[in-house]
Amino acid sequence: MTAERTLPVNLVQDLRGLLGDSAVLDAAETSTRAAGLWRSDTLQAAALARPASTGELSRVLRYCHDNDVSVVTQGGLTGLVHGADAGPDQLIVSLERMRQIEAVNPQQRTATVEAGVILQTLQDAVDAHDLMFPLDLGARGSATLGGNAATNAGGNRVIRYGMMRDMVLGLEAVLADGTVVSSLNHLLKNNAGYDLKQLFIGSEGTLGVITRLVLRLREKPLTHNMAFVACPGFDQLSQFLRHMDRGLGAPCRPSR
Ligand SMILES: Cc1cc2nc3c(=O)[nH]c(=O)nc-3n(C[C@H](O)[C@H](O)[C@H](O)COP(=O)(O)OP(=O)(O)OC[C@H]3O[C@@H](n4cnc5c(N)ncnc54)[C@H](O)[C@@H]3O)c2cc1C
Repeated sequence: MTAERTLPVNLVQDLRGLLGDSAVLDAAETSTRAAGLWRSDTLQAAALARPASTGELSRVLRYCHDNDVSVVTQGGLTGLVHGADAGPDQLIVSLERMRQIEAVNPQQRTATVEAGVILQTLQDAVDAHDLMFPLDLGARGSATLGGNAATNAGGNRVIRYGMMRDMVLGLEAVLADGTVVSSLNHLLKNNAGYDLKQLFIGSEGTLGVITRLVLRLREKPLTHNMAFVACPGFDQLSQFLRHMDRGLGAPCRPSR
């Protein structure tokens, strides 16, 4: 049996005091928003907070921790398993005001981003440097990089480039009590100590809110070819994939 929570009477005013008036929606304003892509219902929550920085988010979570307010994190709301659904007695934290691409480093082939950046925005930004961020999925125009990390997204290039877990070099997150955990590593080869970021990747917001990411970029391929291939069985399919992997170069091959 779960203990009943009593929300602070001045929840919305308190949060507005921390973030500013326009950064917090009350329950009525929240309920005007769609609950997700392809959904006809609307968001339910006591309030929706839109912090603009890690510091602001930390203050919100510390307040929630001290006042026993349950929090649900939302990115682009494209998840298909209702992981970002909230209830009327919960606070939604949306990353929609944390959408800055802080840096693209073509030499190191890394991008440093805030977690609310939309996947396609990053794909387009790095394309200008002849680089690519290989994660790709149908929801690219709405899904956030924080959401991609929280769900350990796979996408349609997973066989060649791996999952989101394979593309994150560093990560910053805020724990439920407001503590900021920073592990913003930029190096591909880093065997120093525990790899804390891996705990947060795939944790769907249960361990903390992901706020910033350092992502590994790849060289944009010079050519693309498409073929429609029909395999008579699973054995032939796996043989075919091995043949393609051998013939087209392994994903970690140094770029030209
Ligand atoms: C057309 C379509 C195609 C898709 N294709 C794929 C696919 O090929 N592969 C695949 O893996 N998924 C796919 N998805 C599912 C979805 O797009 C991914 O799960 C995506 O990674 C979710 O990102 P989001 O920003 O929308 O997260 P949301 O839906 O907002 O949230 C998803 C979960 O992550 C948590 N979360 C969100 N942001 C953060 C954060 N900053 N910190 C901590 N927790 C957070 C939420 O609490 C929730 O539990 C597809 C969805 C659609 C609609």
